[in-house]
Amino acid sequence: MSDSNTKMVAPPEGVVGEGFFATKLNDVVGLARANSLWPLPFATSCCGIEFMATMASHYDLARFGSERVSFSPRQADMLMVMGTISKKMGPILRQVYEQMAEPRWVIAVGACASSGGIFDTYSVLQGIDKVIPVDVYVPGCPPRPEQIVDGVMKLQELVRSESVRRRSSPEYQELLASYNIK
Ligand code: SF4
Repeated sequence: MSDSNTKMVAPPEGVVGEGFFATKLNDVVGLARANSLWPLPFATSCCGIEFMATMASHYDLARFGSERVSFSPRQADMLMVMGTISKKMGPILRQVYEQMAEPRWVIAVGACASSGGIFDTYSVLQGIDKVIPVDVYVPGCPPRPEQIVDGVMKLQELVRSESVRRRSSPEYQELLASYNIK
C-alpha cells in the first residue's frame, strides 16, 4: 500500500555526496533528541485535562515522537507541569525534577504553572520557576491543546539547537546553582 502522505523530518545541514552524508555531531544529536522527547506529566488540576486531549487521537502528540508518557522521572526528559502548584507541593516538584536524568527540559503549561495564575494567595507558588528552571512557558487558562502542541514545538526548536556540551557549561552550572540544585 502506498504511503505518500508520510512526512519525514528534514535532515540537518551537511555535505552530501555519492554514498555519504557528513554533518555536525551537535546537529545529529539535537535532531534525535528533539524528535524523541518523552513527557512526564505533572498534572495537579484543570490544565491536566487539556493535556489528556493533547495526547488523544485528534491532536496526537505521538506525531512528535512523544507518545511514550512516563510517570517515572528517570525515564522521561520533558517535564510538563500542568495545574496549580501549591507551596507545599513545590519541594515534591523539585524532587521529581532532580530525579530526572540530564538532559532534561521543563514546560510550564498554563497560567498557574507559569505565574500562579489567578491564585495570588499565600498558599500558591507564583510560578514553578521559583523552584526549578523552565524552558518554555505556555500561556492560557486553560491553554488549548493547540497551544500545548505549540509549546512542545518551541521546546523541540530549543533542543534541536542545543549544543551537546551545554549541560557541562559554566552558565548551566550557574543556573542550577542559583536553584541550589547539584
Ligand atoms: S491555568 Fe487555569 S485551567 Fe490551568 S490549572 Fe490554572 S486555573 Fe486551571
